[in-house]
Amino acid sequence: MDTRSKELFEAARRHIPGGVNSPVRAFGSVGRTPRFIASAHGSRIVDVDGNELIDYVCSWGPGILGHAHPQVIEKVREACLDGLTYGAPTEREVQMAELLSKLMPSMEVSRLVSSGTEAVMSAIRTARGYTRRDKVIKFKGCYHGHSDGLLVKAGSAALTTSVPDSAGVPSDYTRNTLVALYNDPDSVEAFFRANPGEIAAVVVEPAAANMGVVPPAPGFLEFLREITEKNGALLIFDEVITGFRLALGGAQEYFHVTPDLTTLGKIVGGGMPIGVYGGKREIMEIVSPLGPVYQAGTLSGNPIATAAGLETLRILQADPGIYRRMEEKAKRIEDTVREAAGDRVCVNRIGSLLSLFFTSVRVTDYESAVSSDTASYARYFGYLLDHGIYAAPSQFEAMFLSDAHTEEDVETTCRVIRDFLRGME
Ligand code: PMP
Repeated sequence: MDTRSKELFEAARRHIPGGVNSPVRAFGSVGRTPRFIASAHGSRIVDVDGNELIDYVCSWGPGILGHAHPQVIEKVREACLDGLTYGAPTEREVQMAELLSKLMPSMEVSRLVSSGTEAVMSAIRTARGYTRRDKVIKFKGCYHGHSDGLLVKAGSAALTTSVPDSAGVPSDYTRNTLVALYNDPDSVEAFFRANPGEIAAVVVEPAAANMGVVPPAPGFLEFLREITEKNGALLIFDEVITGFRLALGGAQEYFHVTPDLTTLGKIVGGGMPIGVYGGKREIMEIVSPLGPVYQAGTLSGNPIATAAGLETLRILQADPGIYRRMEEKAKRIEDTVREAAGDRVCVNRIGSLLSLFFTSVRVTDYESAVSSDTASYARYFGYLLDHGIYAAPSQFEAMFLSDAHTEEDVETTCRVIRDFLRGME
């Protein structure tokens, strides 16, 4: 039953583009009406028609402790009573910066912003200011938010200038963004050779999760560390998803590769809007007001966001067993898929992130990811939704586990997925 969701979606489309405030929520690629959510607790979300669903979107990552964790809510409630925003420094911002440098030692100095998009945009500006170079390498299939310079796709031939991947982005804004291939060192090397002394930074999702989950090939991150260092460029890890998810110290701890700059979002705000960029002191100290790289924000360091984020990080810190528990649950889903689908479906998992790709090839990069049959994914998504499970409404997104998912949730999920996959035979 989705009568009320349908009514709301119709009303929404009259006044909001496509009826949603972020495109993937429109369920466009899965052909269903989006569920309008009324509330969420633990592993469950409840829509406006009263359907309760086991949630594997977890707000696209922040919900690592599940929804409405009582301790987080209490801290937010207390913080609200003291005012919502001041536009002046607060103690919690200091606590956050100190905690970040402890959990991720590469983040000696960090700056809070209000979204992942802003964090990556600002990190790149900092890298350009620091190196006094303009060009940046990103990877096809990695997403770093919607700032103009990062909405690019590769030109038609290798090493040609990139072109905008969105209307409204002037080609001038993207000509300094070079698009290499994830897990393909040669494509990176070629750009460094063709642009000597011009590349400011390489920005990468250390484990890609925006073309579905694609782990880095062994040695790939080490290679990026080496080639950037050798060429005087900075390595930026976009850990908006992986930060505090793969490990308390993020992908950089998980893979033992240390970037120069890191961007964070999602979990670090405990469900409130936040972004962070930070790294080596020497680099970060060129940001205003100390240095010439300008960056600012009315709501930056927001007291409610830091309250939710700090409490979330402290809970994670106090119970590192969370990572093992989440991974075990994710692995059970992974094993179920392998067993039920054989090589008809590729399942990629890293820690508590996983994706099912409806393709029989091994997904290791963008090209193999897009070989997936999105119509099959849409059927899978619809089947799960009709059986009480809320998965990502797109083939090219991750499934997020949380500490709140119970044994019973996972068992139910495995049964539903198994039934669907067996029915496909
Ligand atoms: N970087 C990565 C790796 C992301 O996954 C996202 C969002 N999903 C962003 C940046 C942008 O973050 P936001 O949506 O908060 O702007």
